[in-house]
Amino acid sequence: MRETARGGEGPAAARALGVYRLNADDAALVEVAPGAHAWVQPEGGWWVNNAGLVTADHGGEALVVDTCVSSERTRRFLDAAAAATGRAPIRLAVNTHQHGDHTYGNHLLPESTLIAAQEKARDGIVADPFFSGVPRIWEPMPDWSDAVLRPPALTFRSSLAVHLGRRRVEVHHPGETAHTPGDAVVWLPEEKVLFAGDLVFNRVTPLIFMGSLDGARRALDWLAAFGAEAVVPGHGPLPSGEQEVRRCLDEQARYYELVQRIAERGRAGGLTPLQAARKADLGGFADWPDAERIVLNLHRVYADAAGVEMDMEAAFADTLTYLGGPMHCEA
Ligand SMILES: [Zn+2]
Repeated sequence: MRETARGGEGPAAARALGVYRLNADDAALVEVAPGAHAWVQPEGGWWVNNAGLVTADHGGEALVVDTCVSSERTRRFLDAAAAATGRAPIRLAVNTHQHGDHTYGNHLLPESTLIAAQEKARDGIVADPFFSGVPRIWEPMPDWSDAVLRPPALTFRSSLAVHLGRRRVEVHHPGETAHTPGDAVVWLPEEKVLFAGDLVFNRVTPLIFMGSLDGARRALDWLAAFGAEAVVPGHGPLPSGEQEVRRCLDEQARYYELVQRIAERGRAGGLTPLQAARKADLGGFADWPDAERIVLNLHRVYADAAGVEMDMEAAFADTLTYLGGPMHCEA
C-alpha cells in the first residue's frame, strides 16, 4: 500500500513519506493496487467518508467512487486525484448510495463526467430531505450550503460494467436494502479491490437506520464472497491485508448481532428504542465513534419488526436525548 497524495500537500512530499499514516485532519490518497486508490478521511465519523479513484490501464482516463459532503473536502479529493493521474479526465463517477457525505460534492465534478448510481440511490438523492435544510442536530454542522443538487444521470438495477481501457470495473447492487435501498459496490475483478461504500464501516459504528438490519447482515456474506484482497470501507481506516478485512467484516457482523439482541430484549421487555439503548451494554463498541447510532439503529429494527414506517424525527430526537446534546461531527 502506497500513499500517493495528501490533502494540502504536494504528491512528492507524500511519496517521500512512503508509509501509510494518517492524522485526524490528514486525508490521504492511498494506492491499494496498481491504478486503484482510496481517498481516506480520518476519523470517519458523521459526514466524513472515504472515496475512491480508479485509473485506466493506459492512464489517460479515470473513474471516481463518490464525492464528499462539503466543497472543501470534495475539492481536496479531486485535487489529489488530479495530481495522481496527471489530470486525466474523469469519465464516470459512481455514487455508492444516496447519503450526502458521498454525493453532495457531485456538483464539483466536471460537466462531462457521467454520474452513475443504483436507481433507488438516485431516487433517494432527488428526494433527500437533508439537502435543503436540516436542524442543527450535529455540532459543528457540516456545511454544504453552496452545493447544487446533481443527481446521477445514469442508473442501473443490479449491475454495470465499465471498461477503462483494458481495466474492467464492475458495479454491483446487493439485491436488497442494506445500508440504504440503493447501495452499490465498485469491484475490480483483476485487482480484487472492493470499494464497499457504507456496506462496510471499519472501527466506526455502522449505521442502518435508512436501511435494514437483516439486509445489512446478509450483505456482509455477499461482500465476503467477492474474495477481495483490499476493501475500501465507506468510513474508517483501510483494513490492511486479507486478515484485517476479515476482522473488519467479523466485527461488523458482531455489532449487528448485538443490535438484534438488544432490540429483541427491548421489545420483549416493553422498552422503547431509547430505553433499550440506555440499558444496553455496547461492550467494546461503546468506544467506536458515533456509538449513539445504537438509538437510530434500534428505531429501524423496531419499525421493521412492527411493519411500520420509521419515524425519522423521533429517532433523531431520541438520539439527542441519549447523548444529552447534538451529535459530534468533524466534517
Ligand atoms: Zn451512508
